[in-house]
Formats: sequence, structure tokens, C-alpha cells
Amino acid sequence: MQLSLNEFAVAVFRLCIWLVLLTALFIPLERWFGARHAPRPRRERLRDVVYYVISSLVPLVLLSAPTALLAVVAQHLVPTALTTAVQALPVAARVALVFLVGEIGFYWGHRLSHELPWLWRFHALHHSSEHMNFLANTRTHPVDMIVTRLFGLVPLYLLGLAGPSMAGTSAPALLLVVGTAWGFFIHANLRWRLGPLEWLVSTPAFHHWHHSRNDHINRNYASTLPVLDRLFGSHYLPRHWPAEYGTDTPQADTLGGQLLDPLLPAKKAATPPV
Ligand SMILES: [Zn+2]
Ligand SMILES: [Zn+2]
Repeated sequence: MQLSLNEFAVAVFRLCIWLVLLTALFIPLERWFGARHAPRPRRERLRDVVYYVISSLVPLVLLSAPTALLAVVAQHLVPTALTTAVQALPVAARVALVFLVGEIGFYWGHRLSHELPWLWRFHALHHSSEHMNFLANTRTHPVDMIVTRLFGLVPLYLLGLAGPSMAGTSAPALLLVVGTAWGFFIHANLRWRLGPLEWLVSTPAFHHWHHSRNDHINRNYASTLPVLDRLFGSHYLPRHWPAEYGTDTPQADTLGGQLLDPLLPAKKAATPPV
């Protein structure tokens, strides 16, 4: 599946509009409700914007081929009885299943990215932000992004919840849009506590603990459903907020270095946080 130049130009235009809207929404909110800290260097803020562009375009360019392959493989592997049963479900039930199965896939992709050294070397970049802000969401290595997206997509295709059997529905696309939009919110520098809602859905407090330096970095893997962390024993959400954010895994100073280093043979083994 090839992306045409026109489609690419539209995608770039769309992501510029999204950036303007996100900035207009989150900058004032973070100023009013966020933790105070020294202004971040201009170079770092500019790099956040570059990562935003990269992470918005990577799925378009790099995910289309594996997704098309996945669709073909699933067409041969998934029993017709299963796709027929899925098609017979009401749309609301299918969307709920897509959401749940995609979330469980993402949870394990994310957890393995912490536990397996060869995945942590790509995922460590996402944990390198020392101050939370909405754009920390997109500070992600392309390989990390592809791996976690595929962990979410593979079970959807294998259970007949995505692919040809879902023609005419936009549930998988909807999942991505909702997940991405929620991602900006939970990374934002917003010191809000949401009471009983914190049982239901991930919040800035929930995900900020996932970005805390060292102590609770291996908690709260879910992107939207904290119940998965309760189920799999990785939930942590005290009343207070983390004192520090970031990781001890070193990152290159330059953008090129941050992107290339994880692809090169390791000088020393990348150690996942314990
Ligand atoms: Zn993580
Ligand atoms: Zn994060």
C-alpha cells in the first residue's frame, strides 16, 4: 500500500492544524494547573515539535505495509465462523471489543518494552522527559511506536475484529484517534485528580507515575484502562505526585543520535529499569 504525495501533503496539513489546536488548548491549561518549573530550553521545546511531526508521520509511512500484510495473513488464518460471529455482533459491542482487545495488546507491548532490554533501548527515549507536558506524548522512537502499535493491532486482526470482516466500520481507526488524543491529555502538566473517574480511565496522575524517575516506572502501563494494571498487578496511584521524572538510561544530545543509537550495536547492554 503506497501513500501518494497528495495524501502525504494532506496528512502534513492535518497534523499542523492539530498542533495549533493542541497548543491553544494545553498551553494555557498547563500554565494555570501545572507544576511550576524552570522554563525548558528552546532547543528542547523545538525538539518536541520535531518528535510530534515524526511520530505523526511514522505510522502513515511505516505501518501501512505491515498492516496490509497482517490483513492478508489474517484472512487465511481466521476461521470464517469467527468473522461471521463478529459481524453478527451489534456495532457498539464490536467497538467495545476492539477497544478492550487493542488495549490489552498495547498493555503487553508496553510492559515488554520495559522488561526486554532490546525493546527498552527504543522505549527509553519516551521516558527521557524530565518535565511532563502534552508533547511528551510524542517523544517516541519510531521502532517503539511500530512495536506497540502492532501489539495492539495483531490481536484485533487475529480475532476478526479488524480487516476485511470490519469493512464499512471505522472502529480500529477510531481506536487510534481516541487513544492518541487521550495520550496528549495524560502526559500534560495538569495536576488534576479526577476522583472516582480514576478507577475507570487513565489520568495525568496515573501516567505521570509511569514517568517517575526510577521508583515506579514499571507501573501503570495501560494507555486508557487502569483496570488492566489492577488485573496484571502493576497498578500504583497514591494521593501525591512524583517528585522527579525521567530515566537513568542515557540519551544522545542530538536528535539524530537519539534516533540512531538504539539501532546500533550496544556499547553496553541497555538495562531496563528495575
Ligand atoms: Zn513506558
Ligand atoms: Zn508516556
